[in-house]
Amino acid sequence: MEWFASIPKVELHAHLNGSIRDSTLLELARDLGEKHVIVFSDVEHVILKNDRSLTEVFKLFDLIHIITTDHGTVKRITKEVIEDFASENVIYLELRTTPKRNDSKGMTKRSYMEAVMEGVRAVSTVDVVFPHNNVDAGSHIISVPVNDMCNGTTRKKIYVRLLLSIDRRESTAAAMETVKLALEMRDLGVVGIDLSGNPVVGEWITFLPALKFAREHGLDITLHCGEVPNPKEIQAMLDFIPQRIGHACYFGEDDWKRMKSYKIPVEICLTSNITTASVSSLDVHHFADLYKEKHPLVLCTDDSGVFSTSLSKEYNLAASAYGLGKREMFELARNAVEFLFENDEVKQDLRSIFDLAAKKLD
Ligand code: 5GP
Repeated sequence: MEWFASIPKVELHAHLNGSIRDSTLLELARDLGEKHVIVFSDVEHVILKNDRSLTEVFKLFDLIHIITTDHGTVKRITKEVIEDFASENVIYLELRTTPKRNDSKGMTKRSYMEAVMEGVRAVSTVDVVFPHNNVDAGSHIISVPVNDMCNGTTRKKIYVRLLLSIDRRESTAAAMETVKLALEMRDLGVVGIDLSGNPVVGEWITFLPALKFAREHGLDITLHCGEVPNPKEIQAMLDFIPQRIGHACYFGEDDWKRMKSYKIPVEICLTSNITTASVSSLDVHHFADLYKEKHPLVLCTDDSGVFSTSLSKEYNLAASAYGLGKREMFELARNAVEFLFENDEVKQDLRSIFDLAAKKLD
């Protein structure tokens, strides 16, 4: 495990509210319990439960959103989530979140995102490369040499970029509002759009206009695709040819062929897929086939809080389940750089960080 924590890594599929520390969630829930907003004893076991079906996961998200959706809490959890990823040597994090309106808290989608950005800038334990954060992107102050992490003389550095999620419960107008917000916040670290939310809710056609608009204006798009058996939707999503796909658990033979021919990178979330029983076991998980065929893929956490995982754990799991050695796992981590929603300058900086770490591999 330690070794997997020590190598540089790239995280491209992490939902903010799914990545909250259990301790923070419990603390916040207890506070709300004392204020009689919720009954703490009713929610404690829901938060601490380990095995969750996909339906239970979305029930938990509804609870999490009651607990977290005010500006101060959004700022706090963003800061903590970034610190947690940086502590295990994630050097580039694309953090996704659904901008939320909450009238009772005076929150708009914009003010929600401003709170997220304040959280990014509030990180002080590591250097965060984020627009207007005064950390030089090119400076190699980062401490990522393998097995020589943060020795007290060097500070860790993490690039943070944001994806705005459209929730499948939303209307076309609400989805469009999110895309327009993303476009307005492009210079502020927003690099793309994600479609997520309960996969049995909503219709692809509802989101398509907003996704097309995003594409026309140059935003990259990643879609949660094939989390449940829905062949028509999977085909429509493949017709769209997104820049990346998350999960891809229920693909038919034809879908695989098309996705492979388009070379769409897949965000693989092993623990999430197994916990929610979207895939019955690691033996039959599509990671093995995609890896063998050298299809572009990236290991991700999905919801490190909800699924009690970390990116290092996901690497460890893949290595042991599929018999991959250190060199192969390092290359897998390095390849992820090619799939991020950023320009070549950023990719080049990240590649050079991996090159530096590679020298210390053997
Ligand atoms: P947030 O966007 O509130 O920061 O993160 C939590 C939200 O991300 C959930 O309410 C849900 O919309 C989305 N999400 C998190 N995990 C998953 C997942 O495994 N599948 C899908 N489809 N959506 C998810």
